[in-house]
Amino acid sequence: MLRTRRIVSTSVSGTDSNRMTFADLGLSEDLLKAVSEAGYSEPTDIQREAIPPVLMMKDIIGIAQTGTGKTASFVLPMIDIMASGRRRALMPRSLILAPTRELAAQVAENFEKYGKNHDLRLALLIGGVQMGDQVKALNEGVDVLIATPGRLMDLFERGKILLNGCELLVIDEADRMLDMGFIPDIEFICSKLPESRQTMLFSATMPPPIEKLAKKFLNNPKRIEVSRRASTNQNITAFKVPVKSRQKRETLRWLIENDHIETAIVFANRKTTVRELNKSLQRHGFRSGEIHGDMDQSSRIKELDRFKQGEINILVASDVAARGLDIKGVSHVFNFDTPWHPDDYVHRIGRTGRAGAKGRAFTFVAEEDAEAIGNVEKLTGAEVPVFGKKDVRVDLVEKPAEPEEKPKRTRRKRDEETVEERPARKAKSERAPRRRRDEDDAPVAPGEWNGPRPGFLDVSAT
Ligand code: ADP
Ligand code: MG
Repeated sequence: MLRTRRIVSTSVSGTDSNRMTFADLGLSEDLLKAVSEAGYSEPTDIQREAIPPVLMMKDIIGIAQTGTGKTASFVLPMIDIMASGRRRALMPRSLILAPTRELAAQVAENFEKYGKNHDLRLALLIGGVQMGDQVKALNEGVDVLIATPGRLMDLFERGKILLNGCELLVIDEADRMLDMGFIPDIEFICSKLPESRQTMLFSATMPPPIEKLAKKFLNNPKRIEVSRRASTNQNITAFKVPVKSRQKRETLRWLIENDHIETAIVFANRKTTVRELNKSLQRHGFRSGEIHGDMDQSSRIKELDRFKQGEINILVASDVAARGLDIKGVSHVFNFDTPWHPDDYVHRIGRTGRAGAKGRAFTFVAEEDAEAIGNVEKLTGAEVPVFGKKDVRVDLVEKPAEPEEKPKRTRRKRDEETVEERPARKAKSERAPRRRRDEDDAPVAPGEWNGPRPGFLDVSAT
């Protein structure tokens, strides 16, 4: 396939650097071919700024929000750097540290995609996978070792791996490493690598402990910050939805049905909420699944695959399990709870609006979320707008209430914790109109939404 050079940029911001192609960055022909076959026409900001200095063997601190293509900004130049040199048994030539197994696996996929024209050997060292094959690969010699800190420490302590041949180190998703308590492990690993190595650190945010880590282990690094610290992506329309705690599930269902959802990730702060919410959604006939830290590796991958294949279109997730996962085309992110750590807000909503696509993010704010949303707004430096009637994507029916005909329902006990199993959801058109207390449904043309104005639109902002 031929590489196409863009002569005229169609992007809005038309500075010269924005017209730069991958070919201008100094990458090899073989690599450019793989990049164009991957369908990338131009580098993202972080790629444009990081690739040339990485090729010049400089240490790098790369700060860019999630979904901005940080992976390729180190994988691409690494492929060219690693192209020369020889493999040695037990001594990987380069090391990439990632906080979770899923993220490590994603980095490996990137290597396979872009490195297909190169003779590079990879090994993936992650927990939950048989160690035998990993040790065998190491014995045969690897160019690039991609590992989670825990598993690497494990192998190192058993003497199955030597790190003194490692000329290049990448610490990916450094802020997540911090959240997961990996900093001591990383410090230990850094101390086992040769001092003359090249080191790169990538992160969406730079909290003080990460600054400290960088100062200690990077040598005169070039700092690349492509947008304001912890700023959120322009392609994401974010709202907060003031709700009462017990209305959260109902509100979520309303939005799933009425906000043109294709695929959504719903984040909750607790594993138990993830499990219960998923069950509740399934009871209501939604095609949902769950991913959280208590699941073993294979079930997590299986669930993620079902989501990627479209078998399910709603994934209920906890932060640890979902950090940095590259799931294409997620149209919506819901924060069922406002995250406790404001950095997590940036990461969560970063799952949508990736690589140019538009996305919508809704953050539910109940009384107990008030402090957390305040912290989010402090971090991002802007107030998240309240989801209002003008933002609703379907026509809202606001009819004067007709005389009450239906028998009064006793109020449900504690949301739908007690809801019984329901039959699988019918297609929209054959579904009976849903009714609510105090409001009645107006007859509508087929295919249009026939529900009343949802109650949460009347709740005032906290
Ligand atoms: P980050 O690590 O910054 O969160 P990723 O490296 O996971 O982001 O990339 C996010 C998405 O953008 C991925 O789906 C990736 O394939 C895509 N992507 C990366 N670089 C480009 C590019 N130059 N053009 C188009 N898409 C890209
Ligand atoms: Mg990443």
